[in-house]
Amino acid sequence: MERIGPLVIVEGPNKSKVPFSRSLYIDCKEKVLIDSGADKRALLDIKRELGIELILNTHYHPDHIQHNSLFPQAAKWINPIEFETIQSIDRIAEANGIYQEWGEAGVKMWRTNLPEEWIQNIEEISGTYDYETEYSFSNVNVTFLHTPGHTKGLSSPYFSDLGVAYVSDYDMTSFGPWYNGKDGNIEEFIESGKRLLSLDANTYITGHQKGIFTKQEFQNEMETYLEIIDKRDHTIEQYVRKGLTFEEITDIGIFYPKNSLNVPIFKTWERSGIRKHLHRLGLTVSERDGALVDVK
Ligand SMILES: [Zn+2]
Repeated sequence: MERIGPLVIVEGPNKSKVPFSRSLYIDCKEKVLIDSGADKRALLDIKRELGIELILNTHYHPDHIQHNSLFPQAAKWINPIEFETIQSIDRIAEANGIYQEWGEAGVKMWRTNLPEEWIQNIEEISGTYDYETEYSFSNVNVTFLHTPGHTKGLSSPYFSDLGVAYVSDYDMTSFGPWYNGKDGNIEEFIESGKRLLSLDANTYITGHQKGIFTKQEFQNEMETYLEIIDKRDHTIEQYVRKGLTFEEITDIGIFYPKNSLNVPIFKTWERSGIRKHLHRLGLTVSERDGALVDVK
């Protein structure tokens, strides 16, 4: 396991690819773990050798709370916005765009397929930390920056003394920025990305795959990463010009591979993501007949 002073980077299976994520352990008296999506055995080793007493989740997505329930004794906190979201399954369905895309019937179907373990991971979260407030764990100072966009509540833990930021879903993968839930926002995603670049940090730890970047590397990657948003705008605009309907555009596979769109949740996020780009292009989908309507 890699270490940066008191911080231990705990890898998840497959280089922390979704449905797992990289965790960060603060080796301090308070025994703090940030996100619980890393390898189960590695986390249990840490628990045995160093202890885990407090888990801080950056946001409510399943890949970042994956192993919350492995540590029943630990307190678990999340950001204040999403502490409200997780108070009911319906609010989570709403935040994920399930209600928007499929109405009550879709929410009902989604509820029947929820893994028991995931619900347990959510239910174990019992409190919140504050945004933009410096916490001291032994001598380790950390501030949970509010960096909305990926989700409305996403926080990015920033260790100013160490010059380290944990940037979770700013993962710089070729998939590109993910803001596809109803609680995601493209403009905020871009703004928060810029804010992360403005930090006095030289180590950026991503939550998935690529790993750790210097500031210069993170800056270069960010440019390419955010450009994917413009490419999506452009692609969708071309289809609109060709006269495709919303339904037709959502069958192409602009975010997700076409052959994965038979998975209901991917199809949901594909649709909800396309709606956001249509909005940027000044268009909306008519509720009456599904036609694309100019809102400019
Ligand atoms: Zn996420």
